[in-house]
Amino acid sequence: MSLSAARPPGGSPMTPGDPVSAIETPALVIDLDAMQRNLARMAEFARHHGMKLRPHAKMHKSATIAKMQMDAGAVGVCVQKLSEAEALAAGGVSDVYISNEVIHPDKLRRVAALAGRVTLSIAVDSTLGVERLAQALAQAGTSVDVFVEVDAGQGRCGVAPAAAGALAQQVVSHGLRFAGLQAYHGKAQHLRSALEREAAIRHAVTAARTAQAAVTASGIDCPLVTGAGTGTFVFEAASGVYGELQAGSYLFMDRDYADNQPSPGAPVFEHALFIKSEVISRGAAHAVVDAGHKSHAIDSGLPRVWLQDLEFANGGDEHGILRPRGDALPALGDSVWLVPGHCDPTVNLHDRYVVVSGGLQGGSVHAVWPVDARGCVA
Ligand code: PLP
Ligand code: MN
Repeated sequence: MSLSAARPPGGSPMTPGDPVSAIETPALVIDLDAMQRNLARMAEFARHHGMKLRPHAKMHKSATIAKMQMDAGAVGVCVQKLSEAEALAAGGVSDVYISNEVIHPDKLRRVAALAGRVTLSIAVDSTLGVERLAQALAQAGTSVDVFVEVDAGQGRCGVAPAAAGALAQQVVSHGLRFAGLQAYHGKAQHLRSALEREAAIRHAVTAARTAQAAVTASGIDCPLVTGAGTGTFVFEAASGVYGELQAGSYLFMDRDYADNQPSPGAPVFEHALFIKSEVISRGAAHAVVDAGHKSHAIDSGLPRVWLQDLEFANGGDEHGILRPRGDALPALGDSVWLVPGHCDPTVNLHDRYVVVSGGLQGGSVHAVWPVDARGCVA
């Protein structure tokens, strides 16, 4: 079987069973065994702590992976954008939460239409947003679950905790289903020490509690508080307030997350996402690989060279520059594996994953999966 999604323009087709050495570079590669271990460890953590798991699919943008997560017990997935929700729904994902605000009436019409095809939920943080959502749903004759977003400390979206009751009342008075609160603290995720992250989540928990009390004081039941990312989910799980975890990056573990001091009690997650690159030029004291920041995002810093102690320097759009450290430089034509600094925007640079089983060294191609929601930024 030849996999058409595996064929870059002008490139050679890729067939399951092909050796890793046959993967053309630069390529976005999943170590399937490592990914499955990460997937199972998080599913087990959530089960053990009595938490719902709704992993963030903004990270992998793949219907195949979303369905694997749901098969392992996730209640559904999160996305940030309507177009991501549409792409995953088209790929057969049955339960999607847009954990973000949508305001434009045309987009809300699409939200309402999508709600007729999958189980859909969405966040709101304004009266206008509630009014427009209600109007679109009434016109389409569909319904969604609505979460009121609370600013848990990031200073991004979300109402002040004390204002959550009033907005929940707006939701209910417009005939919409109030499903609970979203309290996600993005800025806490990459604080390097576990103690700093714990302190930041203590603040988020207080915000969530205050918001919950405001909702119940206005006579509305608050069924669920949802939030958390890979850097902090241990603390939300221990809070007694949160009932659902939205972590996403645990599945691939980028370099930025690996640089965090681990949270006590967190499962160990392995790197499962790589850029396979190749040395295309050699100097006396440096080597050049064919992967620059068109292959990997650098907003959270440069990639780490995997399995070799080499320094990676930014060589521009299409090049990476390697200098020796503990290991000698690779030769022309050698493969070099990179761990991206930030997984989400790295994935968004690629059309497809090459999925490898049996390890990066002696393994082989298991499958090629499309990045279904690549470029879905609207
Ligand atoms: N929830 C929301 C609302 C997010 O924006 C994010 C990431 O930015 C996450 C959860 C998951 O975070 P991570 O992929 O860092 O685990
Ligand atoms: Mn991210």
